[in-house]
Amino acid sequence: MAHGSQNLVSEGTTAVTKHSPLRLLTHSAMSCARRCLRQYFYRYELALRSRRDAAALRLGAAVHKGLELWSKGATPEAAILAATEGYAVCPAWADLYDWQIEREIVANLLAGYFWRYGTDTLEYVEVEKSWEMPLINPASGRESRTYQLAGKRDGLVRAGDGRLSVLERKTTGDDIGPDSDYWLRLRCDQQISLYTLSALHDGHDVSGVLYDVLRKPTIRPRQIPLLDETGLKVVVDEQTGERMFNKDGKPRQSAGAGMKLATRPETPDEFGARLLADIEERPDYYFQRREVPRLEDDLQAFRLECWQQAQMLSDCRRWGRWFRNVGRNTCSFCEYSRLCLQSITVDLEAPPGGFEIVSDVHPELSEGEES
Ligand code: SF4
Repeated sequence: MAHGSQNLVSEGTTAVTKHSPLRLLTHSAMSCARRCLRQYFYRYELALRSRRDAAALRLGAAVHKGLELWSKGATPEAAILAATEGYAVCPAWADLYDWQIEREIVANLLAGYFWRYGTDTLEYVEVEKSWEMPLINPASGRESRTYQLAGKRDGLVRAGDGRLSVLERKTTGDDIGPDSDYWLRLRCDQQISLYTLSALHDGHDVSGVLYDVLRKPTIRPRQIPLLDETGLKVVVDEQTGERMFNKDGKPRQSAGAGMKLATRPETPDEFGARLLADIEERPDYYFQRREVPRLEDDLQAFRLECWQQAQMLSDCRRWGRWFRNVGRNTCSFCEYSRLCLQSITVDLEAPPGGFEIVSDVHPELSEGEES
């Protein structure tokens, strides 16, 4: 099937799923729809995915895998080994140096996390559990015959005082400092309500979510000054490459006009060691945990939101219209912008370059996949 900007009919398209005969409303699907209905159409109705998008999620998925294994009882060494095994061979399309640096980030972020929380008293009651529950019409109390809520919890944990919480782990590039907006937003975060509801539905007496966040490093590989055999830096002429000396004949130790310090890139191992040292020096910059409670009023408001959103999606499907939400904060981060903003027709028999049609639009729900 093909579509253009004026031909966004949805007949013949299906939200591909291998999990349920009903259409699944996951946190990812609902947040995609809230961001932009046209994006939802590409992603969940056409099952069109960018291959590059999968690569962008690679680091978070690798970290998640290590955390999952560790939570299930693997040693830190085994968890890190498994998390980084996907980096053993650098694909042809990737830059080898960047690939190795990313591997160091995964390995040392995990090593730092295990060091930080290795002695915590959390009991892992459940790890990586997929769930499904009915979507209820708040007016009639009846179950939807079109939609079902679904997701995968990272875990259920019991604190030392016996309280049970849903565990939600995130790897983020955002500031997670105690006063950052990150925590303010979570007060109203839909995923927290959704996962609290799911745990209650499954019979677990939870009061909210333990949000466990890892911040991606902001430090980057740097240039290391080259040293001569006596341990002195080497300053060279930018044009000729000749070493520069002071008037007294001693080698220059800083670059003046037309000169530069001779350097080499930091090796991945050196970068990894520097990253781990930085994590040990300021663990709170990299790791934060916080309990985010949900009251019954919050949950009821969320039930209404879910129903409202399902109605909106049904409406879009009925009309075959999925309107755009054009804006810097949406389109700049959208994997479909090249297609959408130029109204490029999508032929599902021959997807545009860099895209593929996936057989499962909710891979995060499958065993072994990341949420
Ligand atoms: S490019 Fe913008 S309008 Fe188009 S699908 Fe993406 S977010 Fe929506």
